[in-house]
Amino acid sequence: MSADHRKQPFIITLDGPSGSGKSTACRRVAARLGLGYIDTGAMYRCVGWAVREAGLNLDDEKGLEKLLADLKISFRPAGTENRVFCNGQDVTRAIRTPEIDRLASAVSAIGRVRRALLPLQRAAGRSRPAIIDGRDAGTVIFPDADLKIYLDADLETRARRRLKDQAGEKGIDLEKVISAIRERDRADSSRANAPLKMADDAILIDTTRMSLDEVCEEVARLARDRGFTNG
Ligand code: C5P
Repeated sequence: MSADHRKQPFIITLDGPSGSGKSTACRRVAARLGLGYIDTGAMYRCVGWAVREAGLNLDDEKGLEKLLADLKISFRPAGTENRVFCNGQDVTRAIRTPEIDRLASAVSAIGRVRRALLPLQRAAGRSRPAIIDGRDAGTVIFPDADLKIYLDADLETRARRRLKDQAGEKGIDLEKVISAIRERDRADSSRANAPLKMADDAILIDTTRMSLDEVCEEVARLARDRGFTNG
């Protein structure tokens, strides 16, 4: 179908494990092609952050239900980055710590949490052409996306990238990041609810030996091939 005859805006999904380069690639491609950028991982991180702020035990179903009902998440573009707000606070930095990595992964395995975030994620892609950064963007959130990409890279490369993101955090080294990522990969891929897996119709890009520019160029080329034109 050509882009002109569709009702839905053009949607690109970009899934893959931690450190595969998804968020940086999504931000760049969004800026280059004039797409909205939907960071679904940041939404799970906000839930993890809110759970910690509330001192909530994840087994407390009623408490979690209330927390989700009251949850307010918004994104505001600021220069090249997207600032993230949760319940009125700027949590852009606060959601990028190893503790929130673990909490986000834990809350993302809970069906109630996934059901609460799904409509927010879908709504964000309905209003304008967008690129969706996630784990289940191509399998669950937008199964009819125009272009589905799965980014991957070897474990050590992903850990080195994550270490760079978390530079300045105390007590972090490559070995610890490798084992944390290995554990998150295991949890994300083996959970019953929307596990991390490549959609059958996704295109795999292995970014281990690719520069960011090469990855973005490839995504933009694939989008043009599928009929995307900006402007
Ligand atoms: O991508 P990011 O590392 O920010 O995601 C944080 C966590 O949220 C991941 O570990 C993953 O468990 C979860 N997640 C998810 N589904 C998505 C996006 C992220 O389960 N669509």
